Amino acid sequence: MDRLLEGYRRFRTGHWLDHREHYESLSEAQTPRICVISCCDSRVDPVSIFDARPGDLFVIRNVANLVPPYSTDDGLHGTSTAIEFAVRTLKVETILVLGHARCGGVQAAIGAGPPADAVFLKQWISLLNDAKLRAGDHDADALEHTSIKVSLERLMTFPFVAEAVNARRLALAGARFSIFDGRLELLNPTTGEFSDAQQAG
Ligand SMILES: [Zn+2]
Repeated sequence: MDRLLEGYRRFRTGHWLDHREHYESLSEAQTPRICVISCCDSRVDPVSIFDARPGDLFVIRNVANLVPPYSTDDGLHGTSTAIEFAVRTLKVETILVLGHARCGGVQAAIGAGPPADAVFLKQWISLLNDAKLRAGDHDADALEHTSIKVSLERLMTFPFVAEAVNARRLALAGARFSIFDGRLELLNPTTGEFSDAQQAG
């Protein structure tokens, strides 16, 4: 906590003061136009990657940036709840599924599998099974790419997402980030290929 509080004091006396007007403008409500579904991985920070400000991005984070299938059973659907809030209440215009390289969740789905004593992880990463059937379970890069596509397909199984996309009020996009070379790859929805975002312009 000491480290957090030291950081907070620097924030409060530096960055917050420098951007005070922006922060005060956020007091009424949040109005983000973009939702990002990202991994919990500490190396993937959407606000930094997209040079965004607080209030710009509605970020949903979970292990391996996965979208579960639409379901109205009595499970505790944390990710689906956040998607519903983003689309129906905030009316975001874009949802970006942001994968990343060297994802520990993807690694746990292939290779040695999750730790034997993991209580929740095995069931959660079973959401990668569809992507594994398509990409195989030996190439983590291919599975990371394919999983982004599967998550985008699953988003379209949410009726309110499909309705907004079909009415052109909402766009879906996929990308994958590598912290070690700072590179963002964008999914081309037509070809299904990923290419460097700087060249994609
Ligand atoms: Zn990850």
